[in-house]
Amino acid sequence: MTLPGLVIRAAGAAILGALIATGALAQTPLRIFDAHLHYNQEPNPFYDLDKVLEIFRRNNITGIIATSRPNKGTHRLVDAKTPGLMVVPFIRPYRTRSDIQTWFDDPAIWELIQSEYQRGYYRGIGEFHIYGKAAAGAQVKRIVDFAGERDLWLHAHCDEEALLILFGHNPKARIIWAHTGFSTPAARVRELLDKYPGLMGELSYRGGITEGGGNLSADWRTLFGSHSQRFLLGSDTWINERWFAYDTIMKDYRGWLAQLPDEQAGRIAHGNAERLFVKTGE
Ligand SMILES: [Zn+2]
Repeated sequence: MTLPGLVIRAAGAAILGALIATGALAQTPLRIFDAHLHYNQEPNPFYDLDKVLEIFRRNNITGIIATSRPNKGTHRLVDAKTPGLMVVPFIRPYRTRSDIQTWFDDPAIWELIQSEYQRGYYRGIGEFHIYGKAAAGAQVKRIVDFAGERDLWLHAHCDEEALLILFGHNPKARIIWAHTGFSTPAARVRELLDKYPGLMGELSYRGGITEGGGNLSADWRTLFGSHSQRFLLGSDTWINERWFAYDTIMKDYRGWLAQLPDEQAGRIAHGNAERLFVKTGE
């Protein structure tokens, strides 16, 4: 080896060392859009807004579907106009926890949806809970049609029976299926996605994606292989414990996303949500 070669090599190593020291070569973690978030205020939030924004920052969360019970938390997230954070507000049809049991035929909730909608920035309604034939009620149909006419998404935590009834109200409905049925077999999820082009599966609490050691299951690897454009990630911060676990929840997502081809992982992590909620005219 000649002396100049050694010098060049030493210089190269020094530059490499500097890059590593500044983090320039560290892999930027995949950005994530959190499509199932509650910033509940009953009557005050568990974490201040600053703390919540810091949690998003440190997890490289660049977008959220913002919902809150009551909707005050969503107003605060929208009003914060945080650089680097895309806030997509959904109307939560609940004032208090007990509304979960009664919202679907309570006229006061129809009024709540109407008055919230006047704010002009909402992109959807939900998350709401509905099971079985309760989805067939007149007020649910009215809400599905209201959403359909205004290009709003529905974010439904429901069983398969209710999901089919919601689409029966309006086959063109656009529905984010919270938890993707929890345990509905992957093959059935595929059939539903194929049958309803307006259906997206949100994956918080979804069973079966990984098996022992955090490895992707064969069923879900195959489903993501053909349908990666149809899934969204979410934290589902419905109780304070989910805020404590937020970093772990995102770490777990990144663990199985890393086992997918980059293109599929990117869609599920953020690309699909960005595609759905991009504002026309911007
Ligand atoms: Zn939820």
